[in-house]
Amino acid sequence: FPTITILNVPFIKATQNDFVQVLEERVNHHQNTFVVTANPEIVMYAQAHPDYQRRLHTADYITPDGIGIIKGAEILNTPLKDRITGYDTMLDLLTWGSQTHKRVYFVGAKPFVIAKLKSVLADQYPGLEIAGLQDGYFTDEASVATQIHDANPDMVFVALGFPKQEQFIMDHRHEAAALWMGVGGSFDVLVG
Ligand code: UDP
Repeated sequence: FPTITILNVPFIKATQNDFVQVLEERVNHHQNTFVVTANPEIVMYAQAHPDYQRRLHTADYITPDGIGIIKGAEILNTPLKDRITGYDTMLDLLTWGSQTHKRVYFVGAKPFVIAKLKSVLADQYPGLEIAGLQDGYFTDEASVATQIHDANPDMVFVALGFPKQEQFIMDHRHEAAALWMGVGGSFDVLVG
């Protein structure tokens, strides 16, 4: 995809549908993929934290998540296409993953959310293979990484909030040839 750079962050210019289709292709080919859906908060944080900025640049795709980014691009006269949020992208991938029986690992959110998530997934995405469900308040990060490795997932959704989730993905994405995406508070939203 072409990119539009705003405050040093290269955003992909794509529609949600085209983007998800490319991700599905990559998952089918077991390509290691790191997606960041970046809102203005993340862009500002990256401006102030060069280390996080560097981490962002290791992502394969950075999407504009937030109307502020879309507006900013318009003002710069370099319009982006769709807003692409982590939540919508995750839902699209779960629907597809359910149809194609993909293995999915979920890490993040509070233990009670993860417990609820298990039944929501069984109910709404019955074709998914749950590779793992891990709440986001662990102390032994290395053991979580090992579990992800052993689970051999196709997709890993990481809901630790930013900047933790991007840090986690950067540190562990080599553990599985999967699609890795930080999804903020999406598990909380999904379980209602
Ligand atoms: N979270 C977590 N572990 C932590 C901190 C946060 O699992 O150590 C989870 C939290 O329960 C929530 C999600 O990360 O489900 C997003 O948190 P927050 O709303 O603070 O982040 P944002 O949506 O702004 O990225």
